[in-house]
Amino acid sequence: MNKPEKITKNSNGELVVPDHVIIPFIEGDGIGPDIWHATRTVIDGAVKTAYGEERKIFWHELFVGEKGFKKDGQWLSDDALGEIREHMVAIKGPLTTPVGEGMRSLNVSIRQKLDLFACIRPVKYIDPVPSPMKNPNKIDMVIFRENTEDLYAGIEWASGSPEAETVSTFLKEKMGASLPEKAGIGIKPMSAKNTKRLVAKAIEYAIENKYPSVTLMHKGNIMKFTEGAFRNWGYEVAIESFRDHVITEDELYDTYDGRQPAGKIVIKDRIADMLFQQVLLRPDEFGVIATPNLNGDYISDALAAQVGGLGMAPGANISNECAVFEATHGTAPKYAGLDKVNPSSLILSGAMMLDHMGWKVAATLIRSSLQMAVKSGKVTYDLARQIQGATEVTCSAFGDAIVRNMG
Ligand code: NAP
Repeated sequence: MNKPEKITKNSNGELVVPDHVIIPFIEGDGIGPDIWHATRTVIDGAVKTAYGEERKIFWHELFVGEKGFKKDGQWLSDDALGEIREHMVAIKGPLTTPVGEGMRSLNVSIRQKLDLFACIRPVKYIDPVPSPMKNPNKIDMVIFRENTEDLYAGIEWASGSPEAETVSTFLKEKMGASLPEKAGIGIKPMSAKNTKRLVAKAIEYAIENKYPSVTLMHKGNIMKFTEGAFRNWGYEVAIESFRDHVITEDELYDTYDGRQPAGKIVIKDRIADMLFQQVLLRPDEFGVIATPNLNGDYISDALAAQVGGLGMAPGANISNECAVFEATHGTAPKYAGLDKVNPSSLILSGAMMLDHMGWKVAATLIRSSLQMAVKSGKVTYDLARQIQGATEVTCSAFGDAIVRNMG
């Protein structure tokens, strides 16, 4: 048997994935162990069914979150971050944010420390998952959320703190700002560099996966120098770096009479609040959506609801160096250890991971077998409560059924 090896990159920066590959995983807290065990069974089953003994994943556990704290007193060690960097691809369950430990969120810390600047969340309907939409088959969107800046940068001071007072005094005296007494203060930094690398990734994804448009979602009508600048920088990078592949929405009407030329992606922008209603009324008008951090957080959960809720929502956080795949939802502590919740979010994140590794046959097998499991009507509680006549099964039984469908 081949010795298991790490993923590397070639001189063109492309991933080189050995057939017997080591992939680090973080089990996660709360419902993490339940959904991870089901996910691991499904990924291993898909790889075996697709490639026999030729390919295999050797899982390497990283102790992060509660497990890390119990083992060596660290919620998130530099060693664990180093291992993710070194292996280039990892998958994780949700992590609890330790309260009162001076850490804002383990998940946000992982994204920021590894500079995982793009959070990718595909929202695609899997028939017959229950959906509140009239025509859920029209839903096929992918959100690219900026991960490193905006109000999530964590630059904020509590009302009445000396820091907030210092900043307030500076803003009033030096900048002529008018502020309420004892205001809490938060800073919203957004830069051309970080916006452009995010929008570039979104456009590359649209080209590779043949999406017809990239929409820049922003609130630039109000926040002109942050969200408005995001919009402008987004158009700039589209024209500077992808001129042969894209046209703007203005060009679509001025030059092409509203008819999208074959092979061209339309770059458009929408104000955030309006986009929230348009994705409900006309979801088929949107493909890839690129957006700053906070907007991205809101729209991800709203769109997840269109395709079956958080239990069905996969995601990935990527940089140019590494990629961490994870479910969109959190640790759902009330369900921890009950073998109850839907593992599909992490399983579908695993399928995204296999796609990223180029193991596409296994990824496709996971998606089709999961769809068959839903069609059978034997589903976890979250789907069972929405499907008339469905039978509720456990998290692990649902995972096992997906593997059986691969046969
Ligand atoms: P949550 O864990 O996402 O859970 C909220 C609700 O979403 C659950 O009560 C459940 O709804 C539904 N849900 C979540 N996962 C599900 C699944 N796999 N299957 C079916 N339904 C699912 O949000 P939270 O309770 O606000 O957050 C709990 C903790 O998670 C916090 O410590 C937070 O910081 C952390 N968190 C971590 C991440 C991450 O690791 N990426 C992300 C978000 C939050 P019902 O009650 O209706 O059944």
